[in-house]
Amino acid sequence: MKNKVALITGAATGIGRETAIAFARKGANVVISDINDEKLKETQKLIEEKRVKVLSVKADISKEDDIRNMVKKAVEQFGRLDIACNNAGIAGESATTGEYSIEGWDKVLNVNLRGQFICMKYEIEAMIKNGSGSIVNISSILGHVGFAEAPAYVASKHGLLGLTKTAAIEYASQGIRINAVCPGFIETPMLEDAGITTVEETKQYIISLHPAGRLGKPREVADAIVWLASDEASFVTGHPLLVDGGYVAW
Ligand code: NAP
Repeated sequence: MKNKVALITGAATGIGRETAIAFARKGANVVISDINDEKLKETQKLIEEKRVKVLSVKADISKEDDIRNMVKKAVEQFGRLDIACNNAGIAGESATTGEYSIEGWDKVLNVNLRGQFICMKYEIEAMIKNGSGSIVNISSILGHVGFAEAPAYVASKHGLLGLTKTAAIEYASQGIRINAVCPGFIETPMLEDAGITTVEETKQYIISLHPAGRLGKPREVADAIVWLASDEASFVTGHPLLVDGGYVAW
């Protein structure tokens, strides 16, 4: 990873923060991005301790201008973009399909699918100039199976896998690998905000869905992302890698 440049969206907290740290630990220079500027600064401090170069760019991935600027700044600062981890995502409201609000649907799809698509568009453009690159999109176990009262989230994560496979086919011959990581339930602020880790009964129910008998840790997802992005996975493309304690196998 030495001298490689890795861009991570949603890097202010959770899986994104841990992924940015994991890339830095391997010696990559990192571009970290998030809508949450304050927490992004905390991630920046943690990365600076690893003695690699770090650039923070505030970006809302539901806005094309922000994404264009994010990739432009990365290339201006480091001269190239080798790796991109499209991680930023939101859970959205909890309701059955018939009760789900149209505004809520648009909000989730705007970030989790349209936003990821626009990120890929600009990242691929930069990587074509290098003649190589590696993209890892963060989908979910809910890109593989359904989950009641999360129709927009589930649809967005299934859609992201389709997009990942399609782009992988399109750019394989140009030296760009495009894969996805599909985490099970991971202990991050997203689960806290959804009341999953804060209500003991709910937490135990969610744990019971994982054969591993526990929730995952952000570091376990980050290490899989770094491997998939690295040259060690040089013949892997279009792959949806489950990091789920056996959730989907059950
Ligand atoms: P998290 O703790 O909520 O972190 C996500 C980060 O993305 C937050 O800093 C959030 O900022 C930011 N963000 C939200 N909307 C954004 C936007 N429009 N533009 C830029 N940044 C934005 O979530 P996480 O659990 O680490 O999840 C990371 C990814 O993994 C997501 O794509 C999620 O769907 C996926 N995933 C998570 C789990 C899990 O169990 N945690 C399981 C499977 C997949 P704010 O906090 O200000 O909103």
